[in-house]
Amino acid sequence: MVQSPDDYLMISALQHLAFCPRQCALIHIEQVWEENLYTLRGQRVHDKVDTPEHELIEGIRVERAMPLWSHQWGLTGIADVVEFLADGTPYPVEYKAGSKKARDADNIQLCAQALCLEEMLDRPVPRGAIFHHRSRRRREVTFDEGVRSQVRATILQLRELLAQTTLPPPVADARCRDCSLVDACMPHALKAFAESARRNNPFAVTHPAE
Ligand code: SF4
Repeated sequence: MVQSPDDYLMISALQHLAFCPRQCALIHIEQVWEENLYTLRGQRVHDKVDTPEHELIEGIRVERAMPLWSHQWGLTGIADVVEFLADGTPYPVEYKAGSKKARDADNIQLCAQALCLEEMLDRPVPRGAIFHHRSRRRREVTFDEGVRSQVRATILQLRELLAQTTLPPPVADARCRDCSLVDACMPHALKAFAESARRNNPFAVTHPAE
């Protein structure tokens, strides 16, 4: 249970951390944000679900832009969509514009939303879905103990990361291709620099991205 409003973490930061710790630190510590094709696409996708409203579709109540919180886990955020099934069970749906490379990170974000809903509504949330705008398909996610423990571990890692003043090293892999922060991050230049430093100094510490 967190003690102060400043201790609450944004659910989206869990997704950023699980995708790339350096991306998370750039956004949530350095306050860096750059638009690229993928973030603009994402914005367009989210425009449809960013206005709080609700409607009834084929007997299912659909809430859009629903505020979420968990006092137990110290989380806060907004669910793109929460559907309430016929028996009242909440079913969160997160909209994604980008590629499917961030599968684990997306699952962690969605499961964190489920933990909030369980605490807020005092009922189990066993499943939810990621909606991929490009394919217009849903991928259902079951909130089993595996993904729940990943969420708990990511919360702890995020608290540790936010207490630091140095940026984690770049991952410098396929994730960087779609990352809007690539110019601010310079992953490949830093990797080349680390390689060159190691060649010139065999005692230099190996870069974690290598
Ligand atoms: S460019 Fe790569 S290393 Fe840098 S923040 Fe993005 S994903 Fe992480």
